[in-house]
Amino acid sequence: MGRLEGKNALITGAAGGIGLETSILFAKEGASVLMADISEEALSRALAKVKQLVPTAPRVETILCDVSKESQVQAAVEHLDSWGGLDVIFNNAGIMHARDDDAINTPEEIWDLTQNINVKGVWFGCKHAVLALRRHKKTKGSIINTASVVALVGSATPQLAYTASKGAVLALTRELAIVHAREGYRFNSLCPAPLNTPLLQDWLGDDKAKRLRREVHFPTGRFGEAVEQAWAVVFLASDESSFMNGHDLAVDGGMTKAYVTPE
Ligand code: NAD
Repeated sequence: MGRLEGKNALITGAAGGIGLETSILFAKEGASVLMADISEEALSRALAKVKQLVPTAPRVETILCDVSKESQVQAAVEHLDSWGGLDVIFNNAGIMHARDDDAINTPEEIWDLTQNINVKGVWFGCKHAVLALRRHKKTKGSIINTASVVALVGSATPQLAYTASKGAVLALTRELAIVHAREGYRFNSLCPAPLNTPLLQDWLGDDKAKRLRREVHFPTGRFGEAVEQAWAVVFLASDESSFMNGHDLAVDGGMTKAYVTPE
C-alpha cells in the first residue's frame, strides 16, 4: 500500500478491462486518479466500482475523452493542473475492430479509425503529458503506453490495422524514452497477451474453435486477467521502476517465449 502516494495519474480507456483494474489498484496504492473514457455510461459504472472497492481513495474523478481528439486529451491532462500537475499517464485506450482483417480485406476506414485511436491517441497523451510535466517543473514522470504481444510476435489470425498500430506504439514509446531521458521522464510499453476482457471475449463469443486456436499457445493454458496487467502498470508508474525506460514489458504468461507448450 502507498506505492503511488502523492502521484496524480490519468488513465485512458479507464472504464474497460485493464483501465478499470488499474484505476482500482492506483487508488489503493494512494494515487489521485482521473479516469478518462469515451463511454459515459461505462465510466459512471466504473467510478462506482472504484469508490465501492476503495472507499479511502484520496481522489478519483472521471472525464469524458475521445483520445483521437487532441483538444479532449489536452483537457483531460490539464484537469490535473489544479491537483498539482500530472505525474503519471497510462495511455491505454485502444480498439480492435471486428472488421479488421488481412492486407486484402481490411477496409481503409477501419485502418484509419484504428490508427487514430491506438496510435494518434497515444501520441496526444504523450505530448500533453510532457507539456504538463514541464509546466509543473517536475523532475520525474512516468508514461506507460499499452501495446500488445502482437507487436512482438506474428499471428496467423490477422488483424493488420491493430497489429500495425501496436507496433507503432512500441516504436514511438522507445524514441520518446530516449528523447526525454535527461528530463527524468520515463516511457515504457506494456505488452499484454490475450485477456479475459470485453475487447477480446466479446469478439470470441461462444466460438470454441476460435478460442482454442489461441489458448493452445499459452504455456499456462489460460488467457490472462486484466488485474495481472494492472499490477505491472503499478510497478511502471511507481518509483520502484526508476531505472526502467524504453522497455517493452510483456505480461503474457510466457507466451512470447514459447515454442511448444505443455500438453
Ligand atoms: P476494453 O475494451 O475492455 O477497454 C477499452 C476501453 O477503451 C473501453 O472502456 C472503451 O470505451 C475505451 N475506448 C475506446 N475507444 C476510445 C477512445 N477513442 N477514447 C477513449 N476511450 C476509448 O479493452 P482492454 O482489454 O481493457 O484493452 C485496453 C488496452 O489493452 C487496449 O489498448 C488494447 O488494445 C490492449 N490489449 C488488450 C488485450 C486483450 O486481450 N484484451 C491484449 C493486448 C492488448
